[in-house]
Amino acid sequence: MTVSLAPEPARSPSRELSVWPASARTAPHGDVTVAGVALTEIAERFGTPVYVLDEAEVRRRCRAYRAAFPDTDVLYAAKAFLCRAMAHWVREEGLGLDVCSAGELELAVTAGFPPERMVLHGNAKSPEDLRAALRLGVGRIVVDSTGEIARLAAQVPAGTRQKVLLRITPGIAAGSHAAVRTGTDDQKFGLSLADGTAQHAVARVLGQPRLELAGLHCHLGSQIDSVKPYLSAVRRLVGLLARIRRQHGVTLPELDLGGGHAVAYRPGERALDVAALAVRVRAELAASCAAADLPVPRLAVEPGRAIAAPAGVALYRVPSVKRGGDRTFVAVDGGMSDNPRPALYGVGYAPRLVGRRSGAAPVPVTVVGRHCEAGDVLAADVPLPGDIRAGDLVAVPVSGAYQVSMASGYNLVGRPPVVAVADGRARLLVRRESLTDLSSRDVGL
Ligand SMILES: *Cc1c(COP(=O)(O)O)cnc(C)c1O
Repeated sequence: MTVSLAPEPARSPSRELSVWPASARTAPHGDVTVAGVALTEIAERFGTPVYVLDEAEVRRRCRAYRAAFPDTDVLYAAKAFLCRAMAHWVREEGLGLDVCSAGELELAVTAGFPPERMVLHGNAKSPEDLRAALRLGVGRIVVDSTGEIARLAAQVPAGTRQKVLLRITPGIAAGSHAAVRTGTDDQKFGLSLADGTAQHAVARVLGQPRLELAGLHCHLGSQIDSVKPYLSAVRRLVGLLARIRRQHGVTLPELDLGGGHAVAYRPGERALDVAALAVRVRAELAASCAAADLPVPRLAVEPGRAIAAPAGVALYRVPSVKRGGDRTFVAVDGGMSDNPRPALYGVGYAPRLVGRRSGAAPVPVTVVGRHCEAGDVLAADVPLPGDIRAGDLVAVPVSGAYQVSMASGYNLVGRPPVVAVADGRARLLVRRESLTDLSSRDVGL
């Protein structure tokens, strides 16, 4: 297969655009085009802040996963970013969907996504989440705690069975920040392998005639840039599969390894090598199963960010630049309400001036948002041209995941629109949140 996630040298003209969508090009007057559409034109037509999503980049990433992982269910993690168009693209590219709420589930189903290709997650699923999942016929429900088992079973209609996976905490530390490490025993997700909770939950599910234990699930964390933790997870989970067969005489047919595949947010950062992950995980799975004399279970993986993040670009206008002492603050017209990630995890971005050619040498600046918090910083100590000024446009690549989906109503500025670009055309996917939208929820006096 020739599909790869690496930018092709001939198509990525410069290192400065190396983390941008593969279609990004520099254009006259300091402009940048994505999928043939100038960012200045998008700012003009849709206003700022605005999120731009390269449809072909999303599809290319879906295809690369499918090519790297044959005979595997690739489930896009909807929480990274979901709208109806995204659900369409992902479905057309043959992926499944991993959802965490009745809301994500309903949106995808009303967009025509087949529920049997969906997996419902959540450490605290509400009765509504479970009702929606059972009513719509979601393919798998991932059980995250022992208490959930009887509650779920009681809601499954008589004469039917619901397939479930058990979320196992394998005790593996991976991921770039404590807030996104989910494979260890000191966080809220999953059933611990170390203290026997996982084994106990297996017995409980097997004792429920309306539940069908289809397999095991784990999710180690996010921004994992090496294959190794996944190989350890495979070994531990196959160990559990072997124990389950010994104790209960059942062979579980599925293994879902979660997501967490790292992407590069800045030039020079390391992305997880998805092709290497696929080859080594499949080899490890085959070897571990052979050693335990188990049939190889069907594999699933759940990339979220690696599909969506590099396809998105956030575009802001600069209302003010403040120079003082040894610091320059470049304020943009969005911030923590459309991108809370820097405040949550202290992550780094590589913003870029767009729409004006500057001859000024780059100087270190702090790009801040418009919100009423000193912590509303989008990018600290990043180079931008020394003559950056009010009225300029600043673009932030790798903005397609966990930004719009985490956007809040802070300061009632309204969440930004999402615009798709493809084949030289831009089209609105999600409109800007208006004051009317915001005030329509405010119904008391
Ligand atoms: C968040 C999450 C994912 C996706 O994580 P990424 O870092 O976006 O790849 C996959 N599976 C589960 C269970 C998750 O919670």
